[in-house]
Amino acid sequence: MNLSEFSLIDDYIAISTTSRPDVSVGIGDDCAVLNIPRGKSLAVSMDTLVEGRHFIEGVSAVSLGHKALAVSLSDLAAMGAEPAWATLSLTMPEADVQWVQDFMQGFSALSDCFGVQLVGGDTTRGPLSISVQIHGFVDPGQIMRRNGARPGDLIYVTGSLGDAGLALRLQQAGELDLVHHQRLLQRLDYPTPRILEGRRLASLATAAIDLSDGLIGDLGHIVQQSRCGATIELQRLPCGPAVEMEISSSNEWNLALSSGDDYELCFTIPAERQNELQQLAAILDSPLTHIGVIEQQAGIRCINAEGVLVEVDSGYDHFR
Ligand code: ADP
Ligand code: MG
Repeated sequence: MNLSEFSLIDDYIAISTTSRPDVSVGIGDDCAVLNIPRGKSLAVSMDTLVEGRHFIEGVSAVSLGHKALAVSLSDLAAMGAEPAWATLSLTMPEADVQWVQDFMQGFSALSDCFGVQLVGGDTTRGPLSISVQIHGFVDPGQIMRRNGARPGDLIYVTGSLGDAGLALRLQQAGELDLVHHQRLLQRLDYPTPRILEGRRLASLATAAIDLSDGLIGDLGHIVQQSRCGATIELQRLPCGPAVEMEISSSNEWNLALSSGDDYELCFTIPAERQNELQQLAAILDSPLTHIGVIEQQAGIRCINAEGVLVEVDSGYDHFR
């Protein structure tokens, strides 16, 4: 690493205002040294964004900084974890100070918002690629796994489905209108990790996952690991007005069922705990919507308002 890259780290990357008491050594030494609170377990996850695969060339660096951290935080949310520390690997074609400044602006706004401290990372030259590793704490007895759903459990999602997918579709078609579609674009570029929801749900949910690849695909992981199946009632799916309009005009549910990047949570609860969930919903920012039920029969079935089975697509797979 050359001198200018050292000052890039000192002057532009190590800028976060969050300073946690559980960090003994942060950025600047060979390793970070971190202290896990007594009685907690460490939850760790890593996500990578690659130019040309996860985002197109020229996308706003501020939004990339936000999104790189948001997708990692979303994994913590899905486990009911409390975020604490992040490490960041930045591979860039050149040491572009303005780009790094913008990227870190997006990154630190979100990290400060959740009390996350950036404690280390790596900076190298190469095709643009961003990896964030996130560390959080869970109570060992209260971890939301993908494998705990049981027949009879009710299936819920946070927030709304399909906004990010619609924004992407409009963007790719060159039909994105920055004034009309501002909310949709915000959902694609600045997803909100459902940390608060995840932490509150940890004592209630039998299983959970975050929606990165679409509802059918991601709920598919829950039912597969829980060795059961599910039925979704399509008319219950929470969609914003733009997505709803698109669905009713195209008469296909793919936007809500199989478009990715929403970063909402999908979770299951025992039917007898529905009242507790409704009490919880009243104090959360995002709505919690009941969309279906876990069943013994494997696979995911979708039914329309008349109770008739509807054929649907599955989620996105990078290697398909
Ligand atoms: P080393 O050569 O020992 O691996 P580096 O010279 O790569 O260390 O990094 C110096 C310090 O800066 C380390 O503490 C490292 O964690 C931190 N660092 C490097 N790149 C980043 C980055 N992109 N984000 C956060 N911290 C970084
Ligand atoms: Mg070293």
